[in-house]
Amino acid sequence: MSQKITAMAVWHLQLPVNARRDHGIGSVEHSVDIVVVRLTSEDGTVGYGEASSWSVFTGSAEASFAALDRYMRPHVVGREIGDRSAIMADATYCVAHCTEAKAALETALLDLQGRIAGLPVWALIGGKCRDSIPLSCSIADPDFEKDVPLMDRLREDGVRIIKVKTGFKGHAYDMMRMERLRKEYPEFDIRVDYNQGLHHDNALQCVQDIAQFAPTFIEQPVKAHLRSLMAHIRDSIDIPLLADESVFGPEDMQTAINMGIADGVSIKIMKTGGLTRAQTVARMANSVGMSAYGGDMFEAGIAHLAGTHMIAATPEITLGCEFYQASYFLVEDILETPFEIQNGQVIVPQTPGLGIKPDEDKIAKYAIHTSTGPTQGMSNG
Ligand SMILES: [Mg+2]
Repeated sequence: MSQKITAMAVWHLQLPVNARRDHGIGSVEHSVDIVVVRLTSEDGTVGYGEASSWSVFTGSAEASFAALDRYMRPHVVGREIGDRSAIMADATYCVAHCTEAKAALETALLDLQGRIAGLPVWALIGGKCRDSIPLSCSIADPDFEKDVPLMDRLREDGVRIIKVKTGFKGHAYDMMRMERLRKEYPEFDIRVDYNQGLHHDNALQCVQDIAQFAPTFIEQPVKAHLRSLMAHIRDSIDIPLLADESVFGPEDMQTAINMGIADGVSIKIMKTGGLTRAQTVARMANSVGMSAYGGDMFEAGIAHLAGTHMIAATPEITLGCEFYQASYFLVEDILETPFEIQNGQVIVPQTPGLGIKPDEDKIAKYAIHTSTGPTQGMSNG
């Protein structure tokens, strides 16, 4: 464990996707952008992390790439692998925001440390409380008929949770889909996520209408900063309200608690800036009786694995996860073996580090920008 980090490589990838997906804050079509980081130790062991950026939500892949390659690199290369907390403290303050890049760095540090120690990542962040996590898949195509084959595939695969993305094509479209889904797929646990898509003038009425379909929760109906309106909507419906875009890290969580904006929170390592800060948000929520859900961004398998290990070690997250993109959205994931889902459950890896490595041939295939930095380790500072 006294080894140093000797090298850091960063790739910006564009991964093709198999469908269009619309959310309240924007659309994704053709491809998604991610950034992959690889750290190497003195004995040649490597650890990987992923920044899954979305420009309209957390930030851009270009910003994640620069955060890792330019600003964090001097605080990482040459450091002791066991000094993870000190490295993350430096990474937190060497560049503002860029939470996805910070999540990628912490993931790579944990993967590297776990592979050297022979321990899964979940063992390094508290030990595990579960071996599998219920999977939710999002329904978000602007043409609902294109989501019908996906629904049938989910049913066939044993998935029993869906999240209906709403607020991007009018209230009538949302009501029609909720009616059809309730009627044609009665065995599903249905959640609703507006991704801030409602206008504050009529948000309450729309949410009250959707609440009649009794979804398990309704997520982020209005803009992230409209916290008083979130609190008002929460008080006006019987369905639990979840905060997503309103809560990135522990600092936002404290505000959410103080203002009573929600009954639960969607926790994502890409918002919090890493796995350990995600655990802090979950514990803050739990301490005031708020529930927690394992959300994600448009991720590939490395980020899914990081989220899986985090949730495996966080008993406060009880509403399942949404790590569906590698299996149901990407044309091809970048892992050596598929991200494992069985009977609608994400399976928690038991092997060292993240449990599965990315395939570097696939990284090379989809990379549009690469940096390995200087060939010799840089000094700190
Ligand atoms: Mg959301």
